[in-house]
Amino acid sequence: MVKGLRYPNVEVRPLHSDWDQPVDMKKAVELIQDWKPDLVTMVHCDTPTGALNTESVRIIGDACSKTEALFYVDVVSSAGAVPVDIPAWNIDIGFLVTQKVFSCEPSLTMLTVSAKAWKQISKVAYTGYDALLPFKDTEKTQLPYTPLWSALDALNLQLKTVFGKNNEHAQNVYDRHSNVAQYCRDRISKMGLRLWWDQKHLYMNSASVTAVRVPEGTTWEELDKKLRQHGVVFGGSYGQTANALFRIGHMGSQADLETVTYALDVLEKIVTGK
Ligand SMILES: *Cc1c(COP(=O)(O)O)cnc(C)c1O
Repeated sequence: MVKGLRYPNVEVRPLHSDWDQPVDMKKAVELIQDWKPDLVTMVHCDTPTGALNTESVRIIGDACSKTEALFYVDVVSSAGAVPVDIPAWNIDIGFLVTQKVFSCEPSLTMLTVSAKAWKQISKVAYTGYDALLPFKDTEKTQLPYTPLWSALDALNLQLKTVFGKNNEHAQNVYDRHSNVAQYCRDRISKMGLRLWWDQKHLYMNSASVTAVRVPEGTTWEELDKKLRQHGVVFGGSYGQTANALFRIGHMGSQADLETVTYALDVLEKIVTGK
């Protein structure tokens, strides 16, 4: 148990697991039932390890729906790359941004808010500049503050172009992401590298990002330098997984077979010397 860092009056009970192991869902559900927290939060696609936690989100969402707990889920690097069903998964607050799968500038934060969440938001009536309450029912009126019109226009155009006016191309977009991800994983294994998630947890590999173990006999710094010499930039890692894994992003405009093939050709040349 730790005290909230920024809000010392908030009691936080994080559930830990090793970085290459899923969190124990049985323990999580028990904690929700026994402790009855006000809020449970998790990440749908854990970008740092390339893990897609769909099954866990369903389990936790179900547990939260049977209590007072609000379920707050980060869908930043999943929504738009894989189907996300906010109501079916009992997500009270879903949160995403423009700069990941939607390939726009970092400009907007988007939230989904359930009726259960609005009830709590109204009750708390927080008044900071980042309060949500002023946005309640704004579909019917106008936004409470002047929005960044250019960013809204860009997002609208991107959504219409990529997903279709009525979202009719969504399945194509999901297929494109999952095909590119599958291709990426196959190539990684074929060139003798190891995915971060082992065989048993392969289902956790996200369609938007692939985490790969840094091969023995080299360091991330060395590998990164060589990749950059060929104009290829992958994501390294920080903290506990620093130098242990690197990430290949293939979301949004980068979920493109040609781009990913080029990057993997370069990686293969470096690792195999061929
Ligand atoms: C990128 C990302 C965010 C947003 O972080 P920024 O620093 O604003 O880009 C939040 N959650 C996840 C899982 C992400 O991948």
